[in-house]
Amino acid sequence: MNKPVSESDVLVVGGGLHGSSSAFHMARRGARVTVLEADYVGRHASGVNAGGVRTLGRPLPEIPLSLMSREIWHTLADTIGDDGGFVPSGQMKIAETEAELDECRERVALLESHGFTHEKIIDRDTLLELEPNIAPHVTGGIWVERDGYALPFRTTASFRLAAQKHGAAFHEGTAVTRIEQRGERWLAHTASGTHAAQQLVVTAGAWAGELARQVGEPVPVHPEGLMLMVTHRVAPFCRSTLGATGRPLSFKQFDNGTVVIGGKLIGIADLPARHGEVDFARLVRSANTVVDLFPHLRHLGINRAWAGVEAFTEDSLPVISTSRRASNLTYSFGYCGSGFQLGPGCGKLVSELVLDGRASLPLDAFSIDRFGATAH
Ligand SMILES: Cc1cc2nc3c(=O)[nH]c(=O)nc-3n(C[C@H](O)[C@H](O)[C@H](O)COP(=O)(O)OP(=O)(O)OC[C@H]3O[C@@H](n4cnc5c(N)ncnc54)[C@H](O)[C@@H]3O)c2cc1C
Repeated sequence: MNKPVSESDVLVVGGGLHGSSSAFHMARRGARVTVLEADYVGRHASGVNAGGVRTLGRPLPEIPLSLMSREIWHTLADTIGDDGGFVPSGQMKIAETEAELDECRERVALLESHGFTHEKIIDRDTLLELEPNIAPHVTGGIWVERDGYALPFRTTASFRLAAQKHGAAFHEGTAVTRIEQRGERWLAHTASGTHAAQQLVVTAGAWAGELARQVGEPVPVHPEGLMLMVTHRVAPFCRSTLGATGRPLSFKQFDNGTVVIGGKLIGIADLPARHGEVDFARLVRSANTVVDLFPHLRHLGINRAWAGVEAFTEDSLPVISTSRRASNLTYSFGYCGSGFQLGPGCGKLVSELVLDGRASLPLDAFSIDRFGATAH
């Protein structure tokens, strides 16, 4: 082998939020980190998502991670020198029928039985006090005061800059075609040469499955093209970030008046071409939900719509795990449409797995070998 292009303590494959955050948390502890990114940092899901900083509605195993990550969001400016545009707007899940409100009550009771008290039931009057412009048919919902939203590309770029300040190197336009462990070293082969390190971290989003397969531990992970649309500007009418109980919705109004509308709306993902495409017929359904809840938006124009490629696993939980097949290999991918909020915290957990050999929160639910026979 020719002399490697770089020699580091840790190689990170993938410069989304998870790669950049992991790089930051490792570099601030003194590790020499190199990040290899096929396109540019924040090009994919991490730079084009809805920016929801949401602990609300998380699956139980994710809640401790999500609450830990939320604390980092609230102090982001102190931690990385920029707040990522974070606005603690609160997040609300709206119920539109009595049956949906019962569903919310059951959810909150379940959380409380596990000791989690961050989600609160609100009745119709409280909901309308918080958001007076919502249509009057709503019945109540769930409210999380310390949740909010942030600016995805700015957040990811800020983690990258903070990591660079601690000495991390980023190589963009550098796709890793093959990973291999030779003796004590990991090698990442690219068209412009080979990078070497003691430790390898795979944060390659929807493309991570291929790298795991190369190591002999396949994961049932598949890509989806998640869609969003943004409207023209409209006078301020909604402060909180909103979701619905009975139908898909994620909704927020930015300070500049535009409204971002999504809610895990599935468009088209083209993994080899590395891009997502919008399916306009499906976007219409979401626009109708918004008009039901805010009838005064009926004639508001859509400015732009897009789709980003995201990784989904079959149990809707990410893989945050050391390899069961090879030493000094750590994975963090498969965030199933909810990984932006987790980015700051999961980067810290990955840094612990790599540098300490164990994480400060339980990660058993996210192990790479949990899929058993369904992995192929
Ligand atoms: C439209 C949309 C809306 C969303 N809304 C929200 C939300 O409101 N709240 C929330 O919490 N989450 C949301 N998400 C999910 C969130 O964006 C993702 O879970 C998160 O960004 C995943 O980050 P990542 O770093 O794992 O992946 P990515 O951002 O996909 O980064 C992976 C990177 O790895 C690179 N890469 C891949 N293969 C290679 C290789 N072989 N060599 C080098 N580089 C490689 C890719 O180019 C990419 O840049 C949304 C996602 C989308 C698409």
